[in-house]
Amino acid sequence: MEKERNLRYYIETWGCQMNEEDSEKLSGMLKNMGYKSTLAREEASVIIFNTCCVRENAELKVYGNLGALKKLKEKNSDLVIAVCGCMMQQKGVPEEIMKKYPHVDIIFGTHNAYKFPEYLNRVKQGETHLREIETEHSDIVEGLPIDRKSDLKAFVTIMYGCNNFCTYCVVPYVRGRERSRKPEDIENEIKELIKEGYKEITLLGQNVNSYGKGLEPSITFADLLRRVNEIEGLERIRFMTSHPKDISDDVIYAIRDCDKLCEQIHLPVQSGSNSILKKMNRHYTREYYLEVIEKIKREIPDVSITTDIIVGFPGETEEDFEDTLSLVKEVQYDSAFTFIYSRRKYTPADEMEDQIEDEVKHKRFNRLVEAVNEGCAKNNKLYEGKTVEVLVEGESFKDTTKITGRTRSGKLVNFTGNKCNIGNLVNVKITKANSFSLLGEEV
Ligand code: SF4
Repeated sequence: MEKERNLRYYIETWGCQMNEEDSEKLSGMLKNMGYKSTLAREEASVIIFNTCCVRENAELKVYGNLGALKKLKEKNSDLVIAVCGCMMQQKGVPEEIMKKYPHVDIIFGTHNAYKFPEYLNRVKQGETHLREIETEHSDIVEGLPIDRKSDLKAFVTIMYGCNNFCTYCVVPYVRGRERSRKPEDIENEIKELIKEGYKEITLLGQNVNSYGKGLEPSITFADLLRRVNEIEGLERIRFMTSHPKDISDDVIYAIRDCDKLCEQIHLPVQSGSNSILKKMNRHYTREYYLEVIEKIKREIPDVSITTDIIVGFPGETEEDFEDTLSLVKEVQYDSAFTFIYSRRKYTPADEMEDQIEDEVKHKRFNRLVEAVNEGCAKNNKLYEGKTVEVLVEGESFKDTTKITGRTRSGKLVNFTGNKCNIGNLVNVKITKANSFSLLGEEV
């Protein structure tokens, strides 16, 4: 039996919210086994790297960090090093890691993370270089312990995988096809969270609008939203991510009609050019996207709209990029995740011949960020003088005399108020709008 002081684990997570949630589950399983978390790798007896393959940068960081673990393993041969996540689902990557980094003990993929306690025990009993990757997705495993980072806001996964095959994206290859959780399981998880004091939940999936496919009795995402809205004790509901081609009027009406659904929608546009959208395999046009935006703005007053945009996709001409800029100006987003196109092996876009030079990509990226920020600042300005509901999350990082939280529309507010209200909803009068946050006073 290991000494108690050694039962510590360290998890490093790259990538999206799905990976974050997987890490929370790994953390929950380890805590059930008697481990405690640590922020120092040197103190840990188990180190897990949960990897992402969506961007090249994240991959390079994983390799660099894996190399650095060799010394720790030399100092402590009992240390168990595990690598998991999306990178492990890519052809050849697990083999390469085992070859180049023999100090890695366990490699597993996105479909079998729930088996981690078994893998850890097998390695502790002497098995070496354990490698298990499932290429076919398994059934959804319910009831895993989750060690969440926040005790106020929680992410609840409603579906896994994606069926869309955008030409730049590896997600469908590494996370498998869409599978939806049963509504009862989702509701039960949320009810448990409310008992623990959670106030806000974000329903999570790669494409939440296609929730429910294959479930019996049939249910749509809008139906799910209305059901979750009925759960007593819950204060706020958000969701992400929506695919523009699949968002139904019903979902827009649900946001309009349900009191707990926040007036915020993340609708990734990716490009404002029809020819690039076609090459990306997005299945909608600029005109269709703008129609949806118009409907959302018409039906949901004070709605906040955010997006994802890629610049420098293969074949993107100056004219295509101008189309993206003009769309950004027209929609006036509240914020946007902006990305420079990154080549990913095994995706159709990687095979496209007309790749864009780095210098051009970077220049376009800077112009895009400027346009996004301009829109965001203009939207923030509209809040000055208004009183808004804020869920208080804690002390402000920058100024501890202030407290901080978010509006229903997702805006960050730093304000003077009563610290006893941390964890509660309060009304705040906005006194000043900055480019990325608001200032105010509790009223
Ligand atoms: S919708 Fe497209 S970008 Fe989003 S996860 Fe699926 S394939 Fe990737």
